[in-house]
Amino acid sequence: MPLADIHLAADLSDSASFAVLIVAAGRGSRAGNGLPKQYRPLAGRPMLAHTIQAIVEALPKTPVRCVIHPDDQDLYHQVLAHLDETERTHLEPPAYGGNTRQISVKNGLTALAAAEKTPKIVLIQDAARPFSSTSLIRASIKAALTHGAAIPGVPVTDTIKQVNVRDEVIATPDRSSLRAVQTPQAFAFDLIFKAHNMAAVAGISDLTDDGALAEWAGYTVAIFPGETGNMKVTSAADFSAAETRLLKDLPDIRIGQGYDVHALGEGCGVWLGGVNIPHNQSLIGHSDADVLSHAMTDALLGAMADGDIGSHFPPSDPQWKGAASRIFLKTAADRLRSRGGMIANIDATIICERPKIGPHRESIRLSISEILGISLDRVAIKATTTERLGFTGREEGIAVMAIATIRLPLE
Ligand code: MG
Repeated sequence: MPLADIHLAADLSDSASFAVLIVAAGRGSRAGNGLPKQYRPLAGRPMLAHTIQAIVEALPKTPVRCVIHPDDQDLYHQVLAHLDETERTHLEPPAYGGNTRQISVKNGLTALAAAEKTPKIVLIQDAARPFSSTSLIRASIKAALTHGAAIPGVPVTDTIKQVNVRDEVIATPDRSSLRAVQTPQAFAFDLIFKAHNMAAVAGISDLTDDGALAEWAGYTVAIFPGETGNMKVTSAADFSAAETRLLKDLPDIRIGQGYDVHALGEGCGVWLGGVNIPHNQSLIGHSDADVLSHAMTDALLGAMADGDIGSHFPPSDPQWKGAASRIFLKTAADRLRSRGGMIANIDATIICERPKIGPHRESIRLSISEILGISLDRVAIKATTTERLGFTGREEGIAVMAIATIRLPLE
């Protein structure tokens, strides 16, 4: 099929002409823990968050749309909590996938076709490729501008054998003519949308990459150099290797501490870590007086050497009157994320006679993990009394000590 009718006026400086689809609808959980692999944590964030970040870094003005499984809306929502504001603003509402990868991509393309401005070039990325470099992502767009259909490939270093059903070798193809292909794959939008629609009409739904779709539809598909570092993270061993690689890039380990006290006074219920705990008194303060969130916010800001809660959210500022302190905590996490860092752990001790914390410990941990966008195993909450001694012993107030470990890249 001729490419002449495919209009390729866009260039890299016109990123509004591009769109990215990230295919994240798979059910594969081979790597363990029951979660579809794109949602499994890698260095403290779901793999999909890393994949989105790499795309946004490479193509700062390009809209990104994920194709997710309809059952995964909560998991996708958690991914959003792991992105900073810039990354979130790139994301279009997700499209919903089908039973095969091919159908999922077609659904994503259909969503793009319905958008106000149809892209000229679409880049299709697998959620399980968190290491695609900026240069590779940009190269895929350039290659699609030249060829209409372009996929990254690397030479095959192992000798490949073709086998029959009994695992007997029937052929040894010439290695020099073979390429192992990767994503992102990039296409003129009209070309790949047409190919997907033709395949749907022909009843074909199980082609495993979009290059195969374009090939099936009769287009020439060009290979451009892929990167061996652009690994597909699938097995438990892949996850382990990927985690090691990501943590190696965050060698600057820092610790911060926070301490806060609020008085108990008239009211009903106390806020601790974003959870309202039933009590016959309330904590008194300018905001919601969530003493735990305040101490944790200071621990994170302290680790970053980034001021304290008072310097970011002055009590003299009326906009923080009655504010939900989860905002403060989330802001601290976002500031860390925008520096490319991660929270390794956060731990707090709540010091009070009453209310009893034990029955609420797990709901508080869950709340903190959601606010900070980190996995539950990185959040610890402990409680102690002071044996009726001092202001906490007299139930005049609640004190919290918090400590956080963070990892940062070397500047
Ligand atoms: Mg406070």
